[in-house]
Amino acid sequence: MGFFKTLLGRSAGNRAPATPSAIATEPPSFDAYLEAAVRASADFTAEGKELIAEHLRRRKERERADLPPKANRAAHRAEDDALDAEAARILSPGVKAGSRVTTLMGVLFVEAATTRSRDKTIQSCRDLGLTHVTLMIPQTGEECAWCVANDGAKFPVKDDINALLRKNCTCTPSPKCFFNAVVEGFDA
Ligand SMILES: [Zn+2]
Repeated sequence: MGFFKTLLGRSAGNRAPATPSAIATEPPSFDAYLEAAVRASADFTAEGKELIAEHLRRRKERERADLPPKANRAAHRAEDDALDAEAARILSPGVKAGSRVTTLMGVLFVEAATTRSRDKTIQSCRDLGLTHVTLMIPQTGEECAWCVANDGAKFPVKDDINALLRKNCTCTPSPKCFFNAVVEGFDA
């Protein structure tokens, strides 16, 4: 179980995203959010999660090695192919036949980035003494009924917005909405 701790250094384990009170001025790293998304995903087996953790660790090492762009892309592709080749071990039985591990990973990358971005907005509001954010949808027509119904609604930043989304939002594969700070006097 120490896998995710070793994945990105010793601090990763105790820096996973948690409740708002645990969020420092800057939210935890993107990697911490990605680890949390992988860990929470129902798409991967327990063994699969360990293989993915290894894959991400190798990828980080390669990034640190700072290869020339062409070599970097080739190494990247080889790593992705190796991961997809292990799909039978990595993917949960419920996952649609023919799914690629790297495609599902891509979804988690987006989810991790957007979740972190929301936490960052909320944290900035708290730091600035702002009390509310407004939910906005990109209006692509792909948002869930809850997001559409709450487009423009205000939410207090003292709450855990990501927990609110986990409870209510059914956008697939992850929430499509974003939040803007409400600055009194500027917003109606
Ligand atoms: Zn939604």
